[in-house]
Amino acid sequence: MSDNCLFCKIIAGEIPSTEVYRDEDVFAFEDINPTAPTHTLVIPIKHLQDVTDAEEEDAELLGKLVLAANRIADEKGLGEDGFRYVINTGRHGGQTVFHLHLHIIGGRQMTWPPG
Ligand code: 5GP
Ligand code: ZN
Repeated sequence: MSDNCLFCKIIAGEIPSTEVYRDEDVFAFEDINPTAPTHTLVIPIKHLQDVTDAEEEDAELLGKLVLAANRIADEKGLGEDGFRYVINTGRHGGQTVFHLHLHIIGGRQMTWPPG
């Protein structure tokens, strides 16, 4: 838990969210400002500022994050048509909340290149 971190407060229930999944390592909830019919955020319970903050000891945690996201995507029926994972990283990456999060975005056609 990091002081003044929005997503740590969401994990702790200090700020309400629509919970999608929780286990001892991973929490998932609906994005407050969805950019597609499905827009779910998957985050480690351990506070990491961004994905580059991960170290060797976090390798298993990163794997769990992706596996949880895969299950959520499957439960939301995104498997057949596909979807997009996004990890915005730092200022140029468009990151606005500095607690590592994996966006699951799906339910419509994505475009490339991203904005
Ligand atoms: P980033 O731009 O850092 O990759 O993504 C941050 C995401 O968090 C954005 O998609 C934004 O809509 C979402 N977000 C910001 N504040 C809140 C909040 O209080 N609750 C929820 N559920 N999502 C939030
Ligand atoms: Zn945090």
